[in-house]
Amino acid sequence: MIINISWIYSKSVKYSKKGVLYLKSIIQTIYNAVVNYSVGEVIMLHRVDYRCKNMLPCMAELTISPTTLENFIKDNLATRNFISVSELVACINREKCRTDKKFLCFTMDDGYKDIYIYAYPIFKKYNVPFCIFITTDFINNDRAFNWPYIIEQIVLQHDRIELSDGRIFNSITLAEKEQTFRTLKSILQNISYQTFRNDVEQLFEKYLPFEDDENLHLSWDEIREMVASGLCTIGGHTINHSSLAHILKEEMKEEIKGCKDVLESSLNQEINCFAYPFGSVSDVNSLVMDVTKECGYQISFISHGGSIRRNDKNLFSVKRIMLQEDGIA
Ligand SMILES: [Zn+2]
Repeated sequence: MIINISWIYSKSVKYSKKGVLYLKSIIQTIYNAVVNYSVGEVIMLHRVDYRCKNMLPCMAELTISPTTLENFIKDNLATRNFISVSELVACINREKCRTDKKFLCFTMDDGYKDIYIYAYPIFKKYNVPFCIFITTDFINNDRAFNWPYIIEQIVLQHDRIELSDGRIFNSITLAEKEQTFRTLKSILQNISYQTFRNDVEQLFEKYLPFEDDENLHLSWDEIREMVASGLCTIGGHTINHSSLAHILKEEMKEEIKGCKDVLESSLNQEINCFAYPFGSVSDVNSLVMDVTKECGYQISFISHGGSIRRNDKNLFSVKRIMLQEDGIA
C-alpha cells in the first residue's frame, strides 16, 4: 500500500483547523451563556402606521402597524423592564441598572408624524419610555433630507429614470422599480456630500416638483408635547440623513453638531444621544464614531448587531434590532 504523506498532512491540517474553529465556537457559546450573556435589546423602528399605500416592499419593511407595536409591548410587559436611553447609558456603564429582568429600549429614527399619531398613544397607555432620533431638515421641511422616501416616490411614479451623467434605469414592473430604487439609493449613499446634494436636487426637480407633505413629518409642537410627557427622549440623526462614512470630516461635523445645535435651540434642552443614518457597517467607521463623541454626544446607535451583552462597553456603537410586522429581525 502506498502512503501519500502530503495527502495525510493536508487532511490533518484541514481537520485540525476545523477542530480549532469548532472548539473556539464552543468556548464562545459557553462564554456568551455564562459571562457575556444578553442583558436586553434596543428596538429600532421607523414608522408606525397602517400599511401605507404607495410603498416599495423594501420600504414597507420599515413600517409596522400600531396593533403589532401594542401586542409586542403587551407580550413583554411582565418579563421585561422598559427603559429610557439615559437608563441604557447607566446600564452599559454598569452604574444604576435594574437587573431583575432583561431590558427593552424603544428608539425610532427620522421623525415621521405617524409616531405622534399612532405610537405615542400606545407608549402613554403602557407608560413606556421611547426615543426619537430626528433629522432636523425633515422637520424644517427640506425634503432633501428625506431623499430615500422621495426616490421611492419617483421610482413608483416613473417608468424610466435618467441621471445627469446619462445613466438610464427602466422601472416598469414592481421588481424593476425595487431594483432601480436599490441602485439609486446605493449610488447616492456612496458619493461625496456636494455631488449628492446636486444629484438629489436634479432628480427631484426633473421628476418630482416640490410639495412639502406636512402629514409626513413631525412638527416642533408635536415633538415638544411628547417631550413634556416625560416619556420621550429626543436624539440627533443629522441634518440631511447623509451616510456619514462617505463625506468629509468637516461635513460630518456640520451634520452631527449642526443637528445637535438645532435640536437644542428648538427644544431648549441638552441633546445627548444620536443614531447614525442608515447605520450599517459601510455608513459608520471609527472616524464617524470619534467625531460623534467630539460633538458632545454620550451615546450613539448603529442599525444592526442583535442583543446588548453584559460586556458591551462601546457607547458609540450601540447595537439595535428592528421590530418588523412579523417579529424582530
Ligand atoms: Zn434614518
